[in-house]
Amino acid sequence: MTIQTIIEPFRIKTVEPLRMTTRGEREQILAKAGHNLFNVRAEDVLIDLLTDSGTSAMSARQWAGLIDGDESYAGARSFYRFEKAVKDLTGLKHIIPTHQGRAAEKILFTILGGPGKIIPNNTHFDTTRANIEVSGAEAADLPVKEALIPSLVKDFKGNMDIAGLERLLKQKGPEQVPLVMMTVTNNSCAGQPVSMGCIRRVSELCHSYGIPFFIDACRFAENAWFVKTREPGCRGRSVTQLAQEMFSYADGCIMSGKKDGLVNIGGFLAVNDDELARKARNILIVTEGFPTYGGLAGRDLEAFAQGLEEVVDEDYLRYRIRSIEYVVEKLDAAGVPVFKPAGGHAIYLDATSFLPHVPPHEFPGHALACALYIEGGIRSCEIGSVMFGKNDPRTGAFQPALLELVRLAIPRRVYTQSHMDYVVECVGEVFAKRDAIRGVRIIQEPPVLRHFTATFQPL
Ligand SMILES: *Cc1c(COP(=O)(O)O)cnc(C)c1O
Repeated sequence: MTIQTIIEPFRIKTVEPLRMTTRGEREQILAKAGHNLFNVRAEDVLIDLLTDSGTSAMSARQWAGLIDGDESYAGARSFYRFEKAVKDLTGLKHIIPTHQGRAAEKILFTILGGPGKIIPNNTHFDTTRANIEVSGAEAADLPVKEALIPSLVKDFKGNMDIAGLERLLKQKGPEQVPLVMMTVTNNSCAGQPVSMGCIRRVSELCHSYGIPFFIDACRFAENAWFVKTREPGCRGRSVTQLAQEMFSYADGCIMSGKKDGLVNIGGFLAVNDDELARKARNILIVTEGFPTYGGLAGRDLEAFAQGLEEVVDEDYLRYRIRSIEYVVEKLDAAGVPVFKPAGGHAIYLDATSFLPHVPPHEFPGHALACALYIEGGIRSCEIGSVMFGKNDPRTGAFQPALLELVRLAIPRRVYTQSHMDYVVECVGEVFAKRDAIRGVRIIQEPPVLRHFTATFQPL
């Protein structure tokens, strides 16, 4: 008999107790939070799957790095270690640290965005879209058609619709398209990977129009693992080599270290263009800090550099991707509508099929996320019409999101297999009682990124 179980490739040195709550307590907590899980205190959550962002457990070496960090204002050793780690990985020339990913986005789109511009992506992440729109530019999503069919099993559902991109570039040209982005893995499309072939072809297409190609690299290592295990001819190559090849096609990238940097805070912008780097550093000094620390402490840069080394460990990635797939397999076997195949950092429930009696304008994903909290103290995140739905500015008509999903994001190196078994049971329990779940309506909402602060009422 061969041993099949892929174990967590680490042991636990520091523990953080979880606080149990009762269903009655959770009902009160949720009502007090305006039925928005972002307003619930973390200590009132049992299993927190709100996001995989900034929630990683750091390694002993990263904690050691915090003590070892060089806090000099200018020219700190920790910056040079960080810069080398990012250069070795990306091959890009200018490495600009920021406090997190969106600060890099803000700087980039302040320079390259603006009214009349249009910026395509396989699918923009919410803060990326918001930063583009705040600059006055338009954010265009070009996912492949298969991305919109949750039950369809295909290898690279995160890819970009290349024919669609070509049409857009032909029509708008470099005057209106200042850059093209590719998000790996495709967070807003269920963490699905992008193939190396797609990255290469999109890069070539952009360059044929003289348009720079950027990668939103938050989950580059998870993407590289999928490329290694799924794309023909890639199995024999290391994740590091594959990641390096991926970045070799790019003129720049942004990254939130809170994902595959395995840190709790940090990000960067990296570019080859000297003039763009000069402008970016000028903004950085005003909004983030001096170029050798950006918005970070020396210790953060130290931990980030170490995290970038640890995240490409293939034993880690094998466990990481398997731990997501494990939950998807169990839910699928129980008949729960779940986005397939398993993505890199999260399990996505298909709320449209889960709650067919709740129409998009009653926010089925949001209603499901609330039900999961009440059932088992699990905090998840709606990725659907609360996050991406809109009301037409002229007619006021409701425009739903393309998909109504609930994301169970798995923090890196934090929860064990028995935590995941508990999650599977809770989702199964909610599924059994799904007919009783009602939709919600919005009571109050801010003008942008409403999912963070809006309040709701069950119908
Ligand atoms: C998290 C994320 C960002 C923004 O990064 P923050 O560190 O949260 O500011 C941008 N793009 C993608 C794909 C992300 O997942």
